[in-house]
Amino acid sequence: MGATLHELGHLTHYWNNTYTNPNTTVSYSSTHLLLQESFASYVGWYLGEEYYKTVGKQMSNSALIDITGNNRQQWRTSWKRGDPATPGEYSPLFVDLTDNLEQEQQMIPYLLPDNIVGVPASTIWEIITTSQNWAQCRQKLSQRLVPTYCTSAQLETYLANFDEWFSYPDNR
Ligand SMILES: [Zn+2]
Repeated sequence: MGATLHELGHLTHYWNNTYTNPNTTVSYSSTHLLLQESFASYVGWYLGEEYYKTVGKQMSNSALIDITGNNRQQWRTSWKRGDPATPGEYSPLFVDLTDNLEQEQQMIPYLLPDNIVGVPASTIWEIITTSQNWAQCRQKLSQRLVPTYCTSAQLETYLANFDEWFSYPDNR
């Protein structure tokens, strides 16, 4: 179910930026792959969890047990874009703005610092549909999240890993 919902996430993003808002300057096909895949992963995870709850599945509190296959909690900044074994564009960028797991508490060193919780789907949608690259996405995250969902310092801590990832030539 998570994989199907992931693909529907791509479709809604594509459809919005191509047809619903034909005058947008943000082209879906030119949107950076990390943004495309991280948003689709968010949809797969978020709607997947909603679905499995309705059929009585118990959700896990572990970052590493993921019934939807889309929470991307194993992502690391060393994973490169397009690497078949560890495709770095499948990140938890949007999942971690929403979930209430603080991975660092699970004592697994590579997991991201994640002290931001509860950003609603409507805000994530607004950010993804108006961002084509990391600079735009980063600016919108700051505008929409601070101070409602986190402090500027918390956001900077969170985004540092993504800044690092985008700084590698392979990932541009
Ligand atoms: Zn995808």
